[in-house]
Amino acid sequence: MRTKKVKEESIFETQAGVFKLLAHPARLKILALLREGEECVCHMEAMLGYRQAYLSQQLALLREAGVLEMRREGWNVYYRVARPEVYAIIDAAHSVGGSLDDLRRWEEKKKTCECPKCCRARGETPSGEETPLTLAE
Ligand SMILES: [Zn+2]
Repeated sequence: MRTKKVKEESIFETQAGVFKLLAHPARLKILALLREGEECVCHMEAMLGYRQAYLSQQLALLREAGVLEMRREGWNVYYRVARPEVYAIIDAAHSVGGSLDDLRRWEEKKKTCECPKCCRARGETPSGEETPLTLAE
């Protein structure tokens, strides 16, 4: 999936690279969160409970591989999937089984998530968009 390559690598090396990229629970969680569309980093932090540095590291790997795209909007950084084909691979792996508890927990966490998208979904004003408080002198 890399676009910047000097010498063309074997199809098998490329395929192994795709699996290596996806062979990590944190990156699979990120891709699961982004399945419905773009999300801001603050949403992913709230859902996954990772430290920001760790999350950024995983996001950078996915972005460098061309799987994710990033955009900034004010203070918020949003990510979206640029290569939705990865979900075909993920879905094939999903058919093997596994507990869906994490997905259920995310639905609960969304109810209290403070990110702009979740706030708007609940009809609230995202905290960054409130009128700034003026300090009394
Ligand atoms: Zn959220």
